[in-house]
Amino acid sequence: READAWERRFETAQTRDGHRVEVAANLGNTAHAEDAVGRGAEGVGLLRTEFLFMAHSSAPDLATQTTEYRQAIDALNGRPLVARTLDVGGDKPLPYWPVPQEDNPFLGLRGIRLALTEPEVLETQLRALLMAAAPVVGSEDTPRPLRIMLPMVKDVAEFRAAKAIFDRLLAEIPVSERASDVQLGVMIEIPSSALLAPTLAAEVDFFSVGTNDLTQYTLAIDRGHPELSAQADGLHPAVLRLIQMTVDAAHAQGKWVGVCGELASDTAAIPVLVGLGVDELSVSARQIPLVKARLREFDLTEAQASAQLALSQATSDDVRDALEAR
Ligand code: PEP
Ligand code: MG
Repeated sequence: READAWERRFETAQTRDGHRVEVAANLGNTAHAEDAVGRGAEGVGLLRTEFLFMAHSSAPDLATQTTEYRQAIDALNGRPLVARTLDVGGDKPLPYWPVPQEDNPFLGLRGIRLALTEPEVLETQLRALLMAAAPVVGSEDTPRPLRIMLPMVKDVAEFRAAKAIFDRLLAEIPVSERASDVQLGVMIEIPSSALLAPTLAAEVDFFSVGTNDLTQYTLAIDRGHPELSAQADGLHPAVLRLIQMTVDAAHAQGKWVGVCGELASDTAAIPVLVGLGVDELSVSARQIPLVKARLREFDLTEAQASAQLALSQATSDDVRDALEAR
C-alpha cells in the first residue's frame, strides 16, 4: 500500500467519485520546498516563517527575507505558497522580541496581536513576501501564486489592521516588482473566529484551520500538557462544529478553506474533513503520498455521512468509535 501511494504521489488526489482535494505541505524551512514537491506536494499550505526569525539574532531584514521566500516560490515552480506571517509569543518566544512576563502566555501577546504592536516588522515581512513573488524576467509565463495568512486572528478588527498595511504596500510597490496573484487570509484557530466566520468570510480571501490551536482553545487543554494533551483531540464534536461553521461561511462567500493542523493527516479524520467541505489539506511533506492515497479510498457521499455521524456524537472517543464501526 505504501509503495503504491509513493508510486502515485505526483497524481492529483480525488475521492473515488472524483471530488478533488488539494494536498499541500507544511514547512518550517524554505529550503525544504523542493523536497516537498518531490513527495507530491501541490503547493505549500503552511510556511511557518517564525523559524526564519528564530534562526537570526535580530529580525531578518527585507533582503534576507525576500531571498528566503523567493527560494520557496522558485522551487514550487507555479504551485501556490501559503506563507503565515510571524507567529511568535506565548509558547514560541523570540529572544530579541521580549514580551512582558505573563501569567497565561497562551492567552497573551502572541500571533497577530503581537505583530500589530510592531507594525514595521509585519510590514517588512509582507513587503518581502510580495516582492519574492514578483514575476521573474524571462519566465513571466510561470505563475507565482502567493497566499499570505495571519495567525491567531480573533475577529475582523485584527484582519483589517493587517489588511490596511497590505493594501498600502500593494499600492506602493510597482506592479512589475510584486506578486500579481496574491490572496490575504486568516487562520481559524481561536473559537471566536470560527463563531464569527460569516463576518470574516465577507472580507478575507481564504481560511486555513489550525486544528492544533483550535482544539487547545476550544477544549481548554494545553496542546503540550504532559498528562492532558492526549485528550486534545481535534475529532472532538465541538471542534468539528466550529470547522463546519467555518467551511459553510467560507463557501457561502465563494472562499476556500484549508486545514493545516495535525488533524489533516489523521486517517480517521480525513473523510470527516472532506465531508465537511474542506478544500485543501496541508500536512508534513513525508505524509503527502499517504494522505493522497487515503483520499482515493472513499466517495464524497460517504465522507458527508461520516461528517454527519461525527457531528452528532458527544465526545471525541464516541466520534472515533462511531467512525471505526462504519
Ligand atoms: C495550528 O495551530 O493548528 C497550526 C497549524 O499552527 P501551529 O501548529 O504552528 O501553531
Ligand atoms: Mg497555531
